[in-house]
Amino acid sequence: MNNPYQNAMTQLEKAAKIAGLQNKIGPLKKPMRILKANLAVRMDDGKIKKFKAFRVQYNNFRGPFKGGIRYHAQVSLDEIKALSFWMTIKTATVGIPMGGGKGGVIIDPKKLSPMELEKLSRAYVRAFYKYLGPNLDVPAPDVNTNSQIMDWMSDEFNKLTKKNQPAFITGKSLEFDGSQGRDTATADGGFFVLKEFLKQLKISPKKITVVIQGFGNVGANMAEKLYQSGFKIIGVSDSQTAIIDPKKKGFNYNLIKEIKSHHGRIDVCVRHEAKYCKIVHNHLSPQKIVEQSCDLLVLAALENQITKDNVSRIKAKMILELANGPITPKADQTLWQKNITVIPDVLANAGGVTVSYFEWRQNMKKENWSRAQILKKLKPIMIKALKRIDKIAKKYKIDLRTAAFISALRQIIKK
Ligand code: GLU
Repeated sequence: MNNPYQNAMTQLEKAAKIAGLQNKIGPLKKPMRILKANLAVRMDDGKIKKFKAFRVQYNNFRGPFKGGIRYHAQVSLDEIKALSFWMTIKTATVGIPMGGGKGGVIIDPKKLSPMELEKLSRAYVRAFYKYLGPNLDVPAPDVNTNSQIMDWMSDEFNKLTKKNQPAFITGKSLEFDGSQGRDTATADGGFFVLKEFLKQLKISPKKITVVIQGFGNVGANMAEKLYQSGFKIIGVSDSQTAIIDPKKKGFNYNLIKEIKSHHGRIDVCVRHEAKYCKIVHNHLSPQKIVEQSCDLLVLAALENQITKDNVSRIKAKMILELANGPITPKADQTLWQKNITVIPDVLANAGGVTVSYFEWRQNMKKENWSRAQILKKLKPIMIKALKRIDKIAKKYKIDLRTAAFISALRQIIKK
């Protein structure tokens, strides 16, 4: 069921049909190259363990393949194919001169020691480095990978190629040629889009109740921005737990952040810590978080969160997709009929790859841009993309995702 690659292809066909591009999308129906490897890692106990790894290079018509590498127990080739296709659409949606790629390793990184994690990350680069490089394919972080992992990978690539090429990978730490603002870029980009969208509807943040699914890098940064701007965060979840504010007064972001960083989970009341129990909240299962009533639902976890099975129970008025592929095509259709606006992943979370592109440019030109410069460049890119898409959506009377796909397809198959 919910095969993300099939879902991605359904989205592609739908957009191509509306735009009259059916006979031009052939090259986008399959990846240009699929790389697979079995990474051998010597574990701390001395035993060798093998981990399945992928890199999918979907399309490079507009520039080098670009996209993150995820570490997750449920990674599959079809998932990585879908994600690399969405990267192709995403880079074109925001108009940065890059294509789409994605990588993954089937592993629960929480089960590895730091040393094992480093060995795994270096093994990934050794397996694929001949196909990677600043003008070929530029990886980045994704689910469960971070700047430390990018630094290891960058170092391994430099050793193997005997050259210092920081533009080979983005999302590095500042110490190792990373960019200012990359860590918060996905949330920053999503926030620019959201604010512009609300401005057009003349809605003030103060009135908006928000539920956020996911409290990793993207979800937590977005929560912070929303909280600081006066939005009321009435529900939050991570992969294990979820809390909801029955009085809809809104949580204090700083407290939730503190709880999460001390305990690795959001609902510590179960551990009877009086200080935290002052936060009035009800617990619920993380799966139920998307079904809570609110003005805005922010999806910042994984794929396939809203499907035909739960879409009838969605009560949000608007959805912002910071994760990739969280809504299936069937669910999309129902949300459209229910008049629930979805700001789609290929636009809403494109701030991450856009600032990755800025990092790549800085590395190529040996420059260092300030955080203020980064945000100043990011904002108009996100807003222009939203306006372009909104125009297409209004013209064809279609949802924003299909409009984004049409906008992207016109860029990709121009040549
Ligand atoms: N993993 C992020 C995404 O899905 C960022 C990719 C990148 O920076 O290349 O968009």
